Amino acid sequence: MSKQNTPSADHNLYVGDSCIHGIGVYARQPISRGNAFCYLTGHVRHQVYVTEADGLLHPNEFCIGQDLWLDPDPPFCSLNHSCEPNCAQLDNLALAAIDDIAPDTELTIDYSRSELFEPWRMRCSCGSPKCRNVIASVHAFSGEHFRVLSNMNTIPLFAAIAYESHLANKALLAAYGPAELSVGSSAS
Ligand SMILES: [Zn+2]
Repeated sequence: MSKQNTPSADHNLYVGDSCIHGIGVYARQPISRGNAFCYLTGHVRHQVYVTEADGLLHPNEFCIGQDLWLDPDPPFCSLNHSCEPNCAQLDNLALAAIDDIAPDTELTIDYSRSELFEPWRMRCSCGSPKCRNVIASVHAFSGEHFRVLSNMNTIPLFAAIAYESHLANKALLAAYGPAELSVGSSAS
């Protein structure tokens, strides 16, 4: 079952040729840093992905929560990734500027900051000096890097919760080892 979202203020956006990949989304007007300027729109679907191949089935979808995905409407289906983005998902659907954006600048997000599907990988050639070359889910960030991004309000809450849970699980595994956590263990 899918759900159509409310329309966004996408009259301030347009699609044009991109230096990063194919076509991209551009700002018509200046956007100030911190401004949550629009909502992503599209069809929301609940989908549990298991294998890496599952994750490749819908390459344009944005992760917007645990097992929740957005099949984005235009222009958002053309929103490119950058390892040095100027926008971020503020929460599940709100898109905010994380830099001052001049008119006719391509809008970009870091796909990894909201991606919860751990097997997902994508080669990146975004052209940023900070390009990570291969991008993955939010879990791939080091704790230190994640804290910096989180303190800058560039990680949506649902991804921050998932990351903290991931760290807690890793700490438990490091402390007790996988055997103690396996099904049928005698832990009480
Ligand atoms: Zn990159």
